[in-house]
Amino acid sequence: MSGLSRPMPPADLMESLVRSFMPSPELDAWARATFIAPGAALWNEDHDHLNRAALGFVWTTVPNRRGGNLVAGQCEIMPPMAMGKWQRARAEQQIAEWFGEVPDFLITIDANYAQVCDDPEFCALVDHELYHAAQELDQFGAPKFTRDGRPKFGLKGHDVEEFVGIVRRYGAGPAAGATQALVEAASRRPEIAAAQISQACGTCRMLKAA
Ligand SMILES: [Zn+2]
Repeated sequence: MSGLSRPMPPADLMESLVRSFMPSPELDAWARATFIAPGAALWNEDHDHLNRAALGFVWTTVPNRRGGNLVAGQCEIMPPMAMGKWQRARAEQQIAEWFGEVPDFLITIDANYAQVCDDPEFCALVDHELYHAAQELDQFGAPKFTRDGRPKFGLKGHDVEEFVGIVRRYGAGPAAGATQALVEAASRRPEIAAAQISQACGTCRMLKAA
């Protein structure tokens, strides 16, 4: 097995009659080792600011459809917004109990989809969700920082450049340094286009609807 082998949803979750969400530190570790950390197998420079972000990954077995399409993943900026005071406080407590703190971003992945999709599809989905987890830019296009020197994070929709990033990586094959099997697999599946991924992304569909 290579270092790239991806976490699968735990049987505990898949077989549970009561649990429908489960935090996954394994997904966080995998996403960092695959896309974010210096020297990552499929390192993506566009995610560099995420080396300084706390990411909370969650599996869910709750089926989610929007406009007739399966929602396979979603990225939210934390703390949760657009809720009443108690709803928001309750959501924050739940998330802090999962991760020990409220992370900068919460990324939810459909566990049933993850069980059946192949490696390139899964990589494209997670890479895509990470693109939503952006650093804000100032009026000159320079990255913004908070007073204490941390990146100022924001949720971002997909502009053309970001689509190009995904197509470049999954259409033309990932960057050098990737595990050969994954490069071959990705180059066999150029049809995993950004448009297709955004159909399967709850964040994209919400931003489009907004
Ligand atoms: Zn999206």
